[in-house]
Amino acid sequence: MANKSKFQAIKGTRDLLPPETQLWNRVEQTAHEVFATFGFGEIRLPVLEPTELFARSIGLNTDVVSKEMYTFEDHDVQGLEIIRSHLLRDMDLHPGPGDAQYITAGLNQFLAAANHEIKRGTLSRTPEIATALLRLEQDMNFFAGVSPTMVLAEYGSQTNETRATLQAMEWGMEVALRPEATASVCRAYIEHGMQQLPQPVKLYYMGPMFRRERPQKGRYRQFYQIGAEILGGSDAPAIDAELIEMLMTFFGKLDLEGTTLHINSIGHSAPNCRRGYVEKLKAELEKVKDKLGPDSQHRIETNPLRVLDSKLEFEQGVIEKLPHIADHLCDDCAKHYAAVKQHLELRGVIYRENWRLVRGLDYYMRTTFEITAQGLGSQNAVCGGGRYDGLVELLGGPPTKGIGFAIGEDRLILSLQEGAKSATASGAKPNSPLATRHSPLVYIAWMGERAYATAVRAAKDLRNAGFSVELPPTELKFGKALGQADKLGARFALILGDNEVSEGLWTLKTLADGTQTKLPEPAIIEHLRKSLSPVWAGFSPSPGL
Ligand code: AMP
Repeated sequence: MANKSKFQAIKGTRDLLPPETQLWNRVEQTAHEVFATFGFGEIRLPVLEPTELFARSIGLNTDVVSKEMYTFEDHDVQGLEIIRSHLLRDMDLHPGPGDAQYITAGLNQFLAAANHEIKRGTLSRTPEIATALLRLEQDMNFFAGVSPTMVLAEYGSQTNETRATLQAMEWGMEVALRPEATASVCRAYIEHGMQQLPQPVKLYYMGPMFRRERPQKGRYRQFYQIGAEILGGSDAPAIDAELIEMLMTFFGKLDLEGTTLHINSIGHSAPNCRRGYVEKLKAELEKVKDKLGPDSQHRIETNPLRVLDSKLEFEQGVIEKLPHIADHLCDDCAKHYAAVKQHLELRGVIYRENWRLVRGLDYYMRTTFEITAQGLGSQNAVCGGGRYDGLVELLGGPPTKGIGFAIGEDRLILSLQEGAKSATASGAKPNSPLATRHSPLVYIAWMGERAYATAVRAAKDLRNAGFSVELPPTELKFGKALGQADKLGARFALILGDNEVSEGLWTLKTLADGTQTKLPEPAIIEHLRKSLSPVWAGFSPSPGL
């Protein structure tokens, strides 16, 4: 039950709690296993990156960069920042020459603080900072000499200049909480000279991403992605197909139901069959502009391909009549796309072509794909990906082929849970391996000091054998202990009292039917293994049991 406390998780973020976290671990473990069989290695990346990395790669006209990134200036001069904002406010509050002394005093304080930070080494004296400080010093002398009768326009134009100089000063680096990880993988590829390694380099990652979106079911501000990238080597269509095959294998291993793979090709960005299409699309969109909503109207200018993404009911009729990119691909792109489809068929991967699948980020070219799953409502995409051959070069590396995907782990989990719910309701799969298990297998009910020492040893041995064990920290009467075991959903109670310890025979009670058996200590583990149902035994001796 939810309790109101002073502190709550920030909007769009949430705690993931047991037993659900077991499902998360299982999904992640499956990714480690499946991706390794395709030759991928794990990369762990920082959560903070320079804002510029995402602005360059994802594109300034995307929602992710223009509206959704969490950014801040990373610096060590908070005091200076505060003086600056006071000074700027004073300039607004005192716009006339009669108050020039406030501005002079403020500038004096600001310059002293800036020079102090430079001496301390917390502010570096870059050429930009040095020029700005020199200019501000001249401004300060100007304000000191202002007469109260000065013409307002002259005074105003000087304050505007000073304000602009102050605002343009940057103390540190603009950093962002990563909204995605493809750009970071490319940065790491360049930074670590991975082009020297045998190509292609196959990497995967998992972890939290941050976007300031409007939260709803399946959409969070902190969400998790599992992604993979293939960098370098060729752009052979078999690479695209094998990457998608890996993805479908992964979803298959998780028994994710109701998935549909959508694919498309959006052409080349250079030399450029895409530009021709985008121009044509733009011209057609201009003709029907009045029938579109304000967002799409805006996108005609900024990012016309994104209009195809629209989910607005009233726009669908108009969009369906727009030109298809498939009719505008150059020969090379058309051949590449045809071959990707052939390679998918060869691998038995079922796909659906979707000409409107353009993906939101600027760096994609040629193959794009998305996977939708059941039980997710409007946010039903569990994975998106595509080819991005120019990206490494755009970030300052050598010309490098690239393709990758990102799975939305939150949505994947939601869809698995929905699937498990409907399976349980229909009675189809009551023991689905995805059902989350958290209850201990064995609850140790002990009484007496001697029994406690034995209980500690028993817990250690059982845990070493891979069974999950609950050992109450303080003595409980047997009745109470067994009640506790029931509440926790334990399957067995190991009863240890003075008698058991002296006889060397331990009592094991099966809680579901109340049957009891007395066994010598060494036989307990074997007995537990044997008495587990085949479904449970299938997992033995994994931890969790
Ligand atoms: P993208 O990086 O935008 O291509 O997204 C890849 C996948 O990440 C999507 O298909 C979603 O499953 C997931 N995703 C993107 N944004 C969010 C979000 N705000 N909350 C939850 N999942 C998300």
